[in-house]
Amino acid sequence: MPPRYCEVALPVPLRSTFTYALPAGLNGADLVGRRVVVPFRNRAMIGLALAESDRAPGSSAKLRIKEITELMDPLPALPGKLIELGQWISQYYLAPIGETFRSMLPPEIELRHGREYSLTDSGRAYLSELAAGDERTDAEAAEMELLRRFDTDEPVASTSVRPWPGGEAAAEKLARRGYLAAREVLHKRRARMQKIVAWNAANENSPADEAQQRIREILTATRGPLPLALLAEKANVSRATIQRLEKKGRLLIWEEPITAEEDPWDTDFTPPTNVLNTEQRGALEQIACWLVAGKFTAGLLHGVTGSGKTEVYLGAIEAVLARRKTALVLVPEIALTLWVGRLVRARFGEGVAVLHSGLPDIERAREWWRVRRGEARVVVGTRSAVFAPVENLGLVIVDEEQETSYKQEETPRYNGRDTAVYRARLEGAVALLGSATPSLETYHNARAGKYQLLELKARVENRPLAEVRIVDLREEFRREHRATPISESLRSAIARRLEEGTQAMVLINRRGYSWSLLCRSCGAFVQCENCSIALTYHKNRGRLVCHYCGYSISPPKQCPKCRSEFMYYVGEGAERIEEYLKEKFPEARIARLDRDTVRTKREYQRVLGAFANGKINVLVGTQMVAKGHDFQRVTLVGVAGGDLALGRPDFRAAERTFQLLTQVAGRAGRGALSGEVLVETYYPAHYAIQHAAQQDYVSFYEKEAHFRRMLHYPPFTALANLIVRDRKIENAIRWSRLLAKYFAPFENRGVKILGPAAAPLSKLRREYRFQFVLKSPQRSALSSVLTGCLDFCAKNQIPETAVILDVDPTSLA
Ligand code: ADP
Ligand code: ZN
Ligand code: ZN
Repeated sequence: MPPRYCEVALPVPLRSTFTYALPAGLNGADLVGRRVVVPFRNRAMIGLALAESDRAPGSSAKLRIKEITELMDPLPALPGKLIELGQWISQYYLAPIGETFRSMLPPEIELRHGREYSLTDSGRAYLSELAAGDERTDAEAAEMELLRRFDTDEPVASTSVRPWPGGEAAAEKLARRGYLAAREVLHKRRARMQKIVAWNAANENSPADEAQQRIREILTATRGPLPLALLAEKANVSRATIQRLEKKGRLLIWEEPITAEEDPWDTDFTPPTNVLNTEQRGALEQIACWLVAGKFTAGLLHGVTGSGKTEVYLGAIEAVLARRKTALVLVPEIALTLWVGRLVRARFGEGVAVLHSGLPDIERAREWWRVRRGEARVVVGTRSAVFAPVENLGLVIVDEEQETSYKQEETPRYNGRDTAVYRARLEGAVALLGSATPSLETYHNARAGKYQLLELKARVENRPLAEVRIVDLREEFRREHRATPISESLRSAIARRLEEGTQAMVLINRRGYSWSLLCRSCGAFVQCENCSIALTYHKNRGRLVCHYCGYSISPPKQCPKCRSEFMYYVGEGAERIEEYLKEKFPEARIARLDRDTVRTKREYQRVLGAFANGKINVLVGTQMVAKGHDFQRVTLVGVAGGDLALGRPDFRAAERTFQLLTQVAGRAGRGALSGEVLVETYYPAHYAIQHAAQQDYVSFYEKEAHFRRMLHYPPFTALANLIVRDRKIENAIRWSRLLAKYFAPFENRGVKILGPAAAPLSKLRREYRFQFVLKSPQRSALSSVLTGCLDFCAKNQIPETAVILDVDPTSLA
């Protein structure tokens, strides 16, 4: 008996899959892993076929089971191992299965959602009634006019309705009255095309003008045919000129689907040719052994900043490719896919794909399918690239494994690093986690022998680590008797760099001009209307802005609470520091790099490129500047407000501070010039700051691990964070109380439950939030509480969307 039914995962926030019948035409096709189009609640949706069966599910036997509408791709989108991985994520992180698979599939570029309308029977009756009557109001006349337009054999698409009088709204109104039937439809999207230009060698001998000569040079030199837009830019000619030359027969033009844009940095880039030093060779030999063994191994490459971890990654990729297997390289942010992607592409050429969420859907889908078809054997990308559909995986690298950006902060709330390790386990591959400042979890695993530990203890060519100086802001204030945006010590250190012609970076982990606007009479901060958070002042926009929901207002002259006029800006952000430096050093070229100044990949490249080329003397930025980059002429890194994180009620505050300071220190003195780091702080004696200054990871780890063990935090305890949220505070409270009752008995079964309490961010986007923190030394105990909790919610009408469950949270704030 051939299968007649199929389980389909759909991108809806529900924990179940859905059963569909196979239409006769599909009988016999292997559906597992394929994308299918199915009807769901009156609309068409793309889902993933998970399993086939020949029997209808018992409970829904009475319901009419709907049929799959269409099979989408010639190839199953997800190979078997990725389906297993998705199921694991859904279980481990308690994420709805459909949403989990949604984030593993390519963007849906083939289809466009639309609506179409057709006249119903009652619509037809109403229309003839209107037409028969001889007295009509204006409104009725307009209605009749409109209904007539729908009186056709084919349904009318919403795009056609839009320009009609009243537009879609009028059609929707008629639909609500039952005269029109509305239906969601999916349309196939056509591939976008572009013009490609080539030199027509057959017409070689005709005389050439200057523009023509330039075009010819560009097209006949090594490059060959080029997209029209790119050629026009490179040759500095207009499109009209190119088209004129086509008419004359000098150029050939044809159309092709648009291909991924060329990365401008890739064109004239020659990668450094480094001979591996002894430590690097040693690490690589180890990795090669694991690859030869051909079974799952997880390794931690713990190398100080500037120790040349990237070279080890490249060597490992080379070794895995030589064994005819594939490799994934995960980096913590989009900007680093450019940097690392460029190095990897320079070394391994065409077979490298880059995947990240910053790509337009069309480009991302194209790269994704290129990987799926096996045309790329190395994938460089951010978090979600852990799902890249490569087969025959041999190696997964997770660079800067400690970064919180590996954790997805929306459903499915997976950690890309842990998922990478699990994927390697499933596929019998090597997982290599790299860092100068490993997360507590990872280093703990290395010490416990779960992960193999590889170490690079020295910087390449035995360059010294940068010297770190702590600037005690309390001292400064006693000496200077005034507070300036950056300390006098940092200012004079920058002045020295400007004199000697080297470069400086200033890191400030706050965007905007001032953190907040404070009323000196009543002590209230100006708060967001939707969130329980103070608004940040952005001077260039002249607005107070909420960094959580985007709400903004112009700064009030009076306190909204007490009407007093003593409003006062508190706390310096990146914008203020840039302004201050420009005042102090009017001659210097100073730039700022944060999400307010760079919004696109191109701008980002422009600023970093200018800094790398020495066109900028001082670069001010948020943590965007702290990571990964390799600038040779930076001899000073200043950290303004280095201890900001320490004031936060977060069990990772010390770890974050240590990591940030060590990473930043790693940016200085990477070239032949030695470097200095200045850290401003109000807590000079804090162990995170002290050990960062000494760049002593192991001592920091031991101290921090001691606290974590005593206070029952990861890596010694499995942790989950549960938020109950609703726009109505009564609901949020009622549901929290219900859950508290459900949780109570588990206290005796090895799970510690804190809460319910107001969440640290007690209101977010107009929703009130209450929090439970769950801890257990046994992960299995924690999992069973949480799974049961979801069933409990279902039984007690607590909506699934009201409960946010975060397993292994990166923060409790
Ligand atoms: P990190 O360990 O901080 O990630 P990188 O991999 O960025 O360090 O390497 C730092 C710098 O050292 C880079 O400019 C790289 O080209 C250079 N480098 C790497 N290996 C060697 C080597 N064996 N000899 C000389 N320079 C090297
Ligand atoms: Zn006030
Ligand atoms: Zn807000």
